[in-house]
Amino acid sequence: MKVLLTGGTGFVAAHSYRHNVVVTVRSVAKGQSILAKYHDLPNERLSYTVVEDIAVSHAFDDAVRSDPPLDAVIHTASPFHYNVTDPKKDLLDPAIIGTTGILESIKRYAPTVRRVVITSSFASMIIPAAHPRIYDETVWNSVTLDEATKDATTAYRASKTFAERAAWDFILKERPSFTISTINPPSIFGPIADYAGIATTINTSNERFRDMIQGNMQDGLAPTGAFLWVDVRDVAEAHAKAMETEEAANKRFFIVQGHFTNADIANIIKQEFTDRAAKLPENPLSDMPNDVYGYDNSQSKVVLGLQYRPLRQCVIDSVNALLEKGL
Ligand code: NDP
Repeated sequence: MKVLLTGGTGFVAAHSYRHNVVVTVRSVAKGQSILAKYHDLPNERLSYTVVEDIAVSHAFDDAVRSDPPLDAVIHTASPFHYNVTDPKKDLLDPAIIGTTGILESIKRYAPTVRRVVITSSFASMIIPAAHPRIYDETVWNSVTLDEATKDATTAYRASKTFAERAAWDFILKERPSFTISTINPPSIFGPIADYAGIATTINTSNERFRDMIQGNMQDGLAPTGAFLWVDVRDVAEAHAKAMETEEAANKRFFIVQGHFTNADIANIIKQEFTDRAAKLPENPLSDMPNDVYGYDNSQSKVVLGLQYRPLRQCVIDSVNALLEKGL
């Protein structure tokens, strides 16, 4: 199977180098760093193509024209950070134009593609002002365009909501020959891949691990945020299964392991990495409300056959990966 994987330098994508994959990267230097790490792999197994900015129209026109031709596409590329000066330019445009752009390019230039798997998010489901009792694939974030620029968190959530909506609209209106699946995970934790020169900054969802082991939360844990999480390796598995499974066609998948709080993570670190225990509060307290929303991940288990890793294993592996980088 020949697969195009966008956002090849990203935290999630780095766990998704399966099949014969062409990754998109923003520069030749980044592509070369990936090839250097996987120097044992032959060119047909792993190669790269440069897509400098997914917000530019027709950005993917060349990338989708592959020889041998593509069977599937996994679209993970999308900005996930809160360093926003212009929410539209920094978050909304790359998310939305990136998603519609790749679908248009595939429809026009890659007729052999059968399945496109898009990394969406719990961000496109969460309704902060009125949480449902249970989150499942039927729930949509109701954020409006006016609200989208309110603050960085809302802008990120809006970028994922509008991008995913645009993808489903594309399927309805354009009726392409390929089908799509969306993967909607909440906070993703797990080991960061170690490309020299690429993973010098920690991706947004793993910042809390760095902050905890470096003592930045010694005087009090930061608020947990949304109380749901999943391991990056299970997210990668979900993408692969969604790509390979016929029944996943045109389905949305809520990929979630369970509830967590920053206190749960802190306690695991204190127990498993005793030399870091003093960097954390003496008695980490849970901030999860008693009536916290529930979740239903049954579709991911039934259709994709997912089995989720537990939080303890994820925390141990995440912290070890950071310690290996000298943090
Ligand atoms: P990363 O920041 O690690 O990866 C994002 C990737 O997108 C990078 O390869 C980045 O390239 C690329 N990218 C961003 N903007 C552009 C652009 N304008 N043009 C070209 N490439 C761009 O984030 P994650 O791996 O965590 O996120 C991957 C996907 O998963 C995203 O769609 C995100 O919304 C989604 N997601 C993530 C969650 C999490 O907790 N991490 C939770 C739920 C969903 P470069 O590195 O060169 O900047």
